[in-house]
Amino acid sequence: MFESLQDRLGSILSNLTGRGALSEKDVSAALREVRRALIEADVALEVVRGFTERVREKAVGAEVLRSVKPGQMVVKIVHDELVEMLGSEGETIDLNAPAPVVIMMAGLQGSGKTTTTGKIAKRLTEKQGKKVLMASLDTRRPAAQEQLRQLGEQTGIATLPIVEGQSPVEIAERAVQAGRLGGHDVVILDTAGRTHIDEPLMVEMADIARASNPHETLLVADSLTGQDAVNLAKSFNERIPVTGIVLTRMDGDGRGGAALSMRAVTGKPIKLIGTGEKMDALEEFHPKRIADRILGMGDIVSLVEKAAENIDAEKAAAMAKKMQEGKFDLNDLADQIRQMQKMGGMGGIMGMMPGMGKMKDQMAAAGLDDSIFKRQLAIISSMTPHERAHPEILKHSRKKRIAAGSGTNAAEINKLLKMHRQMADMMKAMKGKKGGGLMGKMMG
Ligand code: GDP
Repeated sequence: MFESLQDRLGSILSNLTGRGALSEKDVSAALREVRRALIEADVALEVVRGFTERVREKAVGAEVLRSVKPGQMVVKIVHDELVEMLGSEGETIDLNAPAPVVIMMAGLQGSGKTTTTGKIAKRLTEKQGKKVLMASLDTRRPAAQEQLRQLGEQTGIATLPIVEGQSPVEIAERAVQAGRLGGHDVVILDTAGRTHIDEPLMVEMADIARASNPHETLLVADSLTGQDAVNLAKSFNERIPVTGIVLTRMDGDGRGGAALSMRAVTGKPIKLIGTGEKMDALEEFHPKRIADRILGMGDIVSLVEKAAENIDAEKAAAMAKKMQEGKFDLNDLADQIRQMQKMGGMGGIMGMMPGMGKMKDQMAAAGLDDSIFKRQLAIISSMTPHERAHPEILKHSRKKRIAAGSGTNAAEINKLLKMHRQMADMMKAMKGKKGGGLMGKMMG
């Protein structure tokens, strides 16, 4: 699964990772290739666009950690966006409801619905010790109910006895009833498929859902059908509330686009993937693991993660040194503000530091609260590097330019500068005090 995409992305990104410096042009060129690779993998165009846009924004704005190369940083950003696109945390079947929990399986004919019903039943029985009842609601294909019965025999899982002449809704009601009476934890309803979505199918699904009140409605889609699978899920979801997707035939040589677009297009999580015809060929869908598999660059990703963990400590130490030397310019202030944002805002960070009450008051007096962090950062980033290092040169005309660039006004800029001056003065006053004064406490 994902082999060709893996090859493509692998070579594009490994081209970047070796280099010491990256220009915006390098990143753009690489992203164009990433974009092409995703489109060729049959990922929906709108998803590809959003993806590359977000990667670009992050890559351009990213601070490169000292111990990693820029290209490695880009790999990490691509990886994280991929995880996000695949659904972040990963979700699995939710059985948190009064027994019997009803799981309704929906999908087109031949998508692997019946097989997946058996796989899920087997998994819940063997891995979670659940007592499961399976029922086929397919009254259109005479062999369908028999197919499920045989699957039950083969896996040792109970199936609802077949009663000729009942409608799908009647079978669903009987299944829930039998589940309740028989003390089953879970009842899985294998509904009838069609060759394509049509109105009668949707009406039937809605009727069954009304009669059986499913806790999970899983749409089974064939990953080999690519974008069709995604569009199918979208249409289904518009008519019946789908709670999750099962993508089958992930063992095939599909291009992977369905798996990659599904979450972004439908807003529904892929909960399971089918990876073969055998009854145990069913896997949970873990976005991070899948992203690792697609990129095949797990070592770089963990390298960057480790570096990021160290960065806060490195920064704090560098800041302490600067403060002790009595240097504290607007770049440092911007760093501080960003750090505070990360640490849960002003209340969070100040609350953790003994002796910081005074600074907190001063910042509050200067009008710096969490809601205006963003404006403060905009002001600082609208300055030239020279201005940031030498705020004393900021006179009227420069302030006017900065106000326009940051969408703020002169009063806000003055407030920020005043706050910076007070903080810098305070730091100077502490300079040379035994044990680093405030910093000693901060770092201790
Ligand atoms: P239904 O019509 O949706 O109930 O589809 P079935 O469950 O009868 O499956 C149709 C065919 O697809 C069967 O031959 C299954 O063995 C096969 N199948 C189902 N899931 C998978 C899968 O994940 N991988 C592979 N390779 N085959 C699968």
